Amino acid sequence: MVMMGKGGNMAVSFSGSAKAEICRVVPQKNCCAVAQCFGILLFCNSFGAKGIRIITESRDFANFLPRVFRKAFGFDFDMQPEPDATGKLNFQITDGEKILQIMKAYGFDPEGTVSLHINLPVLEEDCCKAAFLRGAFLAGGSVTDPAKGYHMELATTHHSVAREGYTLINEVLGFDPKCAGRGGGQVLYLKQSDRISDFLIYLGAPVSAMGIIEARLEKELKNKVVRRCNCDDANTSKVVEAAQEQLSAIRFLRETGRLESLPAKLQQAAKGREENPEASLTELSALMEPPITKPAMSHRLKKLVEIAQEAKK
Ligand SMILES: [Zn+2]
Repeated sequence: MVMMGKGGNMAVSFSGSAKAEICRVVPQKNCCAVAQCFGILLFCNSFGAKGIRIITESRDFANFLPRVFRKAFGFDFDMQPEPDATGKLNFQITDGEKILQIMKAYGFDPEGTVSLHINLPVLEEDCCKAAFLRGAFLAGGSVTDPAKGYHMELATTHHSVAREGYTLINEVLGFDPKCAGRGGGQVLYLKQSDRISDFLIYLGAPVSAMGIIEARLEKELKNKVVRRCNCDDANTSKVVEAAQEQLSAIRFLRETGRLESLPAKLQQAAKGREENPEASLTELSALMEPPITKPAMSHRLKKLVEIAQEAKK
């Protein structure tokens, strides 16, 4: 699924479409806005006492970001891209007071040595857990176009966040993501299409989830058709083989003078086959005089093959 962006010539990726869907709703409750910012911060490019930097290529996320931070904390970014900027969009908070306020909201001591982690009391409510994971996906997530494969991931630079994110996903969705190290960070990822669609629905991206489900159904249907075709081919070659066997038996019976002494019904079947070497049983049975059933036709041809085999012994 590739859509044209607002810029006109920039194609929006499948990930971009999913993020656009999620960004349609700015959290109404303050608890959820705080939780969503928490997800964004723990899965963004850098979040520490020295500063915050969020870089995204999603225009929708870039529009959403200042709104959710204002809702949660009541202030703006110290640096943000121009409204019509494209490419990599860079947001920063460098003001010490703002960073202190954010750290305190999540129970971190900016002077302390404790590494950043998912502070669970912030996510006590179910609404906040979903908001947190929405933020995590917007800042550090991606989902592959299902036409190319099934892959959805959340990347973080914090090890403990990956571990706790794993537990959180298990808690809210009932399955475990896979986890791997990458470039000094950690990636939580999903490879099964039904889990990816479940996760997208949970995050509030049902249209993207439907894209995954449709891609899977289409693939299954294609596989079925391919299996069916292979099956038909196998049948066709069996029919051809059987006809060859019948023809060589009939030739043998004729050349050894045995054909003329056979019952009229078998002679007629032999003639029908010789004159129509590629005809199916159904076609041959209709050519008999009077027409006979397909099993009866099959029986007559098998009889000819048997007689020839007997005679060769
Ligand atoms: Zn909430």
